[in-house]
Amino acid sequence: MAWNANKLSRFEAVEPHMGTLVGITLYAANPAMAKAAFERGFARIAALNRLFSDYLEDSEVNALSTTPRKVSRELYEILRFAREVSRASNGAFDVTIGPLTRLWRQKLPLTPEAKALVDWQALRLERGRVWFTKPGMKVDLGAIGKGFAADAAARACELDNVLIAASGDIVCRGAPPGESGWRVQAAGVTLRLRNAAVSTSGDARQYFERNGVRYSHIIDPRSGLSMTTQLEVSAVARNGMTADALATAVRVSGDTSIPKRFGAQVVAGPTASTGGHPPEFAAPGSD
Ligand code: AMP
Ligand code: MG
Repeated sequence: MAWNANKLSRFEAVEPHMGTLVGITLYAANPAMAKAAFERGFARIAALNRLFSDYLEDSEVNALSTTPRKVSRELYEILRFAREVSRASNGAFDVTIGPLTRLWRQKLPLTPEAKALVDWQALRLERGRVWFTKPGMKVDLGAIGKGFAADAAARACELDNVLIAASGDIVCRGAPPGESGWRVQAAGVTLRLRNAAVSTSGDARQYFERNGVRYSHIIDPRSGLSMTTQLEVSAVARNGMTADALATAVRVSGDTSIPKRFGAQVVAGPTASTGGHPPEFAAPGSD
């Protein structure tokens, strides 16, 4: 087959990463360019997972302690943004949820000791260094890391039209040639996104059941309890990190005004409103 350098074709690849399947869809001039872009994109995700995963014993995030530690630019950036969302959501979103998610993963009940260790204000960031003020704290980037990684992967592909889908976190760079945006589905809503991202937070897949009650993987840090109501929230923002964190913040708090402070909006959920306009969202340049 002959490839016309000016004509772009669509290519897709899927690989397991970050405990889920990650898909990359892109437009490239030929298969070799597409393959090189896939490799760069997936490699970037794998590298970030080594920093961010609390499942990997030797990850950078698991090395945090009460001793100030110089961390990577990426970890500093994601923690700084996580604290902004914690502040805006009055602690409904909290990446220091680690001690509670550990109990949830083992289906163990809440302990007051674990709950006391969840405190975003005890996570300190200063001049590239990070530390905890309470021994035993743990960071869990599960509610923000996939969005961040999808942003980074989209950039790493170095092509104009790329879509990264990491389960509920979707980042759209550019658009398919000749179209106004990428067509994506989020919590039953069809969207067209260009240089924007959408994330869905909910318990559709991740929960355990006991005595007829569904215990979601999403935990309300203020009570320490796993959420038992079934609800999916989708948020659209200019990048994946923002959409990911805000979808979780709204899922926990129910406060749909939080995304507005970050130039984002809720597009699916109990009180979703698209203001009567078609759910289309475009931002100048994704970052
Ligand atoms: P998401 O699917 O983006 O809403 O992220 C859910 C994941 O984030 C969970 O599996 C936990 O690892 C973590 N998590 C649970 N509750 C919270 C919370 N209140 N704030 C921040 N992260 C959380
Ligand atoms: Mg999230």
